[in-house]
Amino acid sequence: MPNPSAGRTMSVFSNAHFDDHEHVVYCFDAASGLRAIIAIHNTHLGPALGGCRVWPYGGEDEALVDVLRLSRGMTYKAALADLQQGGGKSVIIADPRHDKTADMMRAMGRFVDSLGGRYIVAEDSGTSVDDMRLMRESTSHVGGLLERTDALGRRRSGDPSPATAYGAFIAVRAAVARRLQRQDLRGLRVAVQGVGNVGARLARHLHEAGAQLWVCDHYPERARKIADELGATVVAPAAIYEQPVDVLCPCALGAVLNDETIPKLRAKVVAGAANNQLAEDRHGRELMRRGILYAPDYVVNAGGIIDIAYERDGAEWARVQAHLERIGDTLTAIFERSERDGEPTNEIADRLARERFAGRTPSTDR
Ligand code: NAD
Repeated sequence: MPNPSAGRTMSVFSNAHFDDHEHVVYCFDAASGLRAIIAIHNTHLGPALGGCRVWPYGGEDEALVDVLRLSRGMTYKAALADLQQGGGKSVIIADPRHDKTADMMRAMGRFVDSLGGRYIVAEDSGTSVDDMRLMRESTSHVGGLLERTDALGRRRSGDPSPATAYGAFIAVRAAVARRLQRQDLRGLRVAVQGVGNVGARLARHLHEAGAQLWVCDHYPERARKIADELGATVVAPAAIYEQPVDVLCPCALGAVLNDETIPKLRAKVVAGAANNQLAEDRHGRELMRRGILYAPDYVVNAGGIIDIAYERDGAEWARVQAHLERIGDTLTAIFERSERDGEPTNEIADRLARERFAGRTPSTDR
C-alpha cells in the first residue's frame, strides 16, 4: 500500500492536539500491512480505555490528530463517569471494508499487549466484536467481550448501545428535573434526532416513562418504524430543531448545535447521546444565554464506557445499571455549579473532569 504521508514531517509534541499525552505509539507490521497509532492521554485514574477505529485516513497527520483528540476526550469522559480509568484511543489507517484482515487485527492485539495493560482496546467505528476476539488471541487487554444478561434477560456482548441509551435516559430525567422542575416525564414533549442503536432505545425508555415523542432520521423508514411502535410523530430531519418540544435529544451526529440551529430551538433542555454536539465551545455559552439547559454530551453518553469497564470485572447488569444512574448525580452537580458560577455547563464539565484526573478530587471507588 503506498504511504500517503511520504515526505511529510510528523510532529507529536508540538501538535496542536498534543495536550500532555503520556504515550503515543506508532505501530507497523509488515506482514499484515498494519499501520496504526495508539494514544494514551492520561492514566492518573487508571489504565486508558478507548476504542480502536479503522478509517482510511488521508495520511498519518490526519490519523494523529484524530487519535489525539479522541484519546483526550476519553480521559474527560472516564473521569466524569466516575471510573477508575484513564483515556486512550487507537486508530488503524485502513479502509474497514477492503483492507481489514484477521492478521491485521492479531498484529494490533500484539501491539496493545506490548503496553502491558496501560491501554485497553474496545470496539469503535470500523471494528466489530469479531475483531476484538481476534485481538484477544494476542492480548487480554480487550474490553467489550464478556457475555452477560441484561435488564430484559437477553444474553449480549459487545454492544454498548443499551447502556448508552439508558444513561441518556437518566440524563434527560436529571436535566428535566433541574430546568423544568419535573420529576415525572409523563406528557413531556421530546424530540429524538436519529433513531439508530441509541436513539431508538432512548425513545423506548422515554415512551415507557410517558413522554410524547417526535422523531426523525436520515433514513425515513427507521423513523417510521419507531414512530409506528411508539406512537411518535415523524418529522423531516431539517425540521427537528423547531418542533414545539420541551427536550431535544441529539442522537445522530456531531456539530448539530450551531449558529444556524440554536436560534430555532424551542426546547428548554438539550440532552442526547451524540458525540461533539456543540459546533464550537462558544455554543455552550449561547445556549445558556438563551435559557436552554445543555447536558454535556460526554457525560450523557458515558454509558457505553461504563458498561465496558464493568464487563472487564464480569459484573452483572444490575451493578452497571446502578452506576449508570449516577450519571444523573454528576449532571446535577454540573448544573448546580453552572448556576452558581454563571458559567456554561460544557465549561464546568471540562473543569470538573480536569480536577478529577489531575488528582485533586480523587474519583470515588466503585
Ligand atoms: P447509529 O448509526 O446506530 O444511529 C445514528 C442514526 O442517526 C442513524 O439511524 C442515522 O441514519 C441517523 N442520522 C444520521 N444523520 C442524521 C441526520 N442528519 N438527521 C437525522 N438522523 C440522522 O449510531 P448510534 O450507535 O445510535 O450512535 C448515535 C450517536 O451517539 C453517535 O454520535 C455516536 O457517536 C454516539 N455514541 C454512541 C454510543 C453507543 O453506545 N452506540 C456511545 C457513545 C456515543
